[in-house]
Amino acid sequence: MSRKVHSSRTEGVDKNVWVEFTQLAADYKAVNLGQGFPDFSPPEFIREAFCDALKGGPAMHQYTRAFGHPPLVKILAKFFGRIVGHEIDPLEDILVTVGAYQALFCAFQALIDEEDEVIIVEPFFDCYQPMVVMAGGKPVYIPLRPREGRAVLSSGDWVLSPEELASKVTPRTKAIVINTPNNPLGKVYKLEELQMIADLCIKHDLLCFSDEVYEWLTYDGAKHVKIASLPGMRERTITVGSAGKSFSATGWKVGWAIGSRDVIKHLKIIHQNSIYHCATAAQEAVARGFEREYEVFGAPDSYFQQLPAMLHNKRQKLATCLQSVGLNPIMPEGGYFMIADISSVKVDLNDESNKVESRDFRFVKWLIKEKGLATIPVSAFYSPEHGKEFDKYIRFCFVKEDSTLKAAEDILKKWSQRE
Ligand code: PMP
Ligand code: GLN
Repeated sequence: MSRKVHSSRTEGVDKNVWVEFTQLAADYKAVNLGQGFPDFSPPEFIREAFCDALKGGPAMHQYTRAFGHPPLVKILAKFFGRIVGHEIDPLEDILVTVGAYQALFCAFQALIDEEDEVIIVEPFFDCYQPMVVMAGGKPVYIPLRPREGRAVLSSGDWVLSPEELASKVTPRTKAIVINTPNNPLGKVYKLEELQMIADLCIKHDLLCFSDEVYEWLTYDGAKHVKIASLPGMRERTITVGSAGKSFSATGWKVGWAIGSRDVIKHLKIIHQNSIYHCATAAQEAVARGFEREYEVFGAPDSYFQQLPAMLHNKRQKLATCLQSVGLNPIMPEGGYFMIADISSVKVDLNDESNKVESRDFRFVKWLIKEKGLATIPVSAFYSPEHGKEFDKYIRFCFVKEDSTLKAAEDILKKWSQRE
């Protein structure tokens, strides 16, 4: 065709770190601590629930309610209502989506207009930026910065400046996007930090998109707080969750958005005119999973207790390994990623064919191709204007079998001994 085929909405959002690095890791058969997915199975109770759903008769294989399979929205309302301390209406306040990705997409499409500004806290899960841009909005960035004047050991040492955040608000600001626990840093926002963000949202009448897909994964006493539970935030917060992350079943692609009916009704419009509804059997299985978790909530046999307990050990293993080879990890308070400082690593990356890319991208490619270990460059989680400041970090994923972590450790140790 001689005419322009693509819409202008696809321009400038063509690069995708997952597409690029997942393929590269596969091509080189690398030990994969890159993309964030468990390399082990979901717990047995939920796998069985999926099998039962598949055997559960014709209805399980057909369409269900557009905005969420009734048993799933019912238990999500009950489950999260108990946590936030206010009633959630299963039919009005919840939208079940194809993963947290689609919940985010519906939120940006439904609530952001041309020229609206959306404040995004960096580092951020990369899809927020293209989703704002595709909705016609303008992303405005504010970085979490390591506290000055002392050693940065934990993700808790990365903080927002309240003054800097306030300075980003203009009459065009529509929303603030936060992610707690954060991907890739692992920061778990403290109550005071969330209160500061909430105060700003209330003062300027802003929406808050709160991505909480790693909500169960906190360590060393860090406590996940839902910003929707703070006074005045219920009506303006869209809380996004993921069964993929909650139950270690990322391939099932079940997620949700929870908020007030007056906000969620707009997300439903995007959903009904695009996806319409998500896989019935997967929703049925996730409903069963939450029904079980509701009964055992807080008890040792809750998966939401067991998964962080298991990850606590893996996190320690990875941190010890990284320290032993001279990579300085930032200990995450939550989530299943760890970033590490590669500044001290002496590798000649001055590849003439690739001088345009930032150092972390070149380093990660080198690590995959030359050493067979896949990770993710951290500048992918920053705007172009701030990426350069943070391209000394790479991200490791530790929701992996001990044998995978050991294989990664062997690669790193062998390499460090040779240097
Ligand atoms: N938000 C964050 C912070 C993520 O890391 C991810 C990746 N799982 C998503 C959203 C998307 O989640 P899902 O796989 O449920 O679409
Ligand atoms: N959320 C996962 C991560 O951060 C995977 C995202 C993806 O593959 N698109 O690694």
